[in-house]
Amino acid sequence: MSLKYEKKNVYENLSKEEIKEMNEYISGYVDFLGKAKTEYKAVKIVKEMLQKEGFVDISTKKELKLSDKVYFENNEKSLYAAVIGKDKLVNGLNIIGAHVDSPRIDLKPMPLYENKGVALLKTQYYGGIKKYQWLTIPLAMHAVIYTSQGEKLDIVIGEDESDPCFTMSDLLPHLAKDQMKLNANEFIDPEKMSILFGSLKSTTEEKEKNDVKENILKLLNDKYGIKEVDFARSEIEFVPAFKPRYIGLDSSMIGGYGQDDRVCAYATVKAMISESKNEVNKTMVAMVVDKEEIGSVGNTSMSSNIFDMFINKILTLKNEKVTDIYELYYNSKMLSADVSTCVDPCYEEFSDIPNSNILGFGVCLEKYTGSGGKSGASDANAKYVSEVMSTFEKNNIIFQLGTLGKIGKGGGGTIAYILANKGVNVIDCGTPVLSMHSPFEVAGIGDIYMTYKAYIAFFK
Ligand code: MN
Ligand code: MN
Repeated sequence: MSLKYEKKNVYENLSKEEIKEMNEYISGYVDFLGKAKTEYKAVKIVKEMLQKEGFVDISTKKELKLSDKVYFENNEKSLYAAVIGKDKLVNGLNIIGAHVDSPRIDLKPMPLYENKGVALLKTQYYGGIKKYQWLTIPLAMHAVIYTSQGEKLDIVIGEDESDPCFTMSDLLPHLAKDQMKLNANEFIDPEKMSILFGSLKSTTEEKEKNDVKENILKLLNDKYGIKEVDFARSEIEFVPAFKPRYIGLDSSMIGGYGQDDRVCAYATVKAMISESKNEVNKTMVAMVVDKEEIGSVGNTSMSSNIFDMFINKILTLKNEKVTDIYELYYNSKMLSADVSTCVDPCYEEFSDIPNSNILGFGVCLEKYTGSGGKSGASDANAKYVSEVMSTFEKNNIIFQLGTLGKIGKGGGGTIAYILANKGVNVIDCGTPVLSMHSPFEVAGIGDIYMTYKAYIAFFK
């Protein structure tokens, strides 16, 4: 037997039964991805998935016993769930955390304006995007609007085939001679990224108000009872309107919006549900959080102390007194469930091949992220890396040891450092994807399935 390390292809190494299980898992995932288009929707679906399996809101519990299943929903944008194990909490938790926000197009607080016969909406992009990728594609609107009376409206336009959808225009190539000379950072001015929202004039008798903006406001008021100022009471997100699809003649990949990081979020929740059927030794915690794409800031992000509140609630309800919560964190272990990249076969010069993920060769175990001299990285220690690797090896998990790309070409981070800063042993582990942060990210079905299997092995 050779001493050399060699990557293993997932599909090649699966049994007939495993391929069947993989296909079922992928079909459930595609359905989830097509519906979980925003952080609000993802949290709602995750909550429903957990409730179906007997998880209950932790605020309804008077005490917690072995195998009890609870969750806490933070402002409808992030959710923490736990299954109580046999061991004392202070001896450590097994945690998996993913994020459910994805790059997208948000509206400014006062977005509606009219120019040259067209009503438009001013936007502000969310997360790190290549701006040109988001122009000239169909977009759907997901709006959460509060009226002045405090009523919450949940409006979705553009997901249904029979709905109209939206788009942002781009300059035609015939007139783009000057634009094409600009560098890629400058050639799309974010202030020019506006949503085409309407172009019909009002049909009312009042001639002085006979403009397109007034007509749009009338339509909004007739249908939803809102006024222009109510835009400021809302979160209106525009996301790609298309559904996820199988990719390739062999249907070996999934293309879709928001796989960073809903592919790992789905695996986290499915693995938690699968393991909640057994008595576990360590209490399991699964979470899906918001705001990762803008630096994990804010009350629904991983940095929010509301996570500590959840852990404190569990301690109280389990009647377990801990002198210092950091002792609990120090004894805990975590997989930071976030996507990594795989070598783009058309841009392989940006990857250091032996230290990169290859599509189809399994879930990625990433010792560190960051950039340059490991700046901003949560660098897992050798003991913990070895422990996770051994767990995966024992459970026949096909994994690869990728990093993000060549040093100095860029970089990136995840939520790993946040829990690591509390004292938890954390390593990044997730699905490798192509075209990350684009409107249509691509991942291999074997890698998607192995992510789920890896998370199950970790919870065990
Ligand atoms: Mn991510
Ligand atoms: Mn990302």
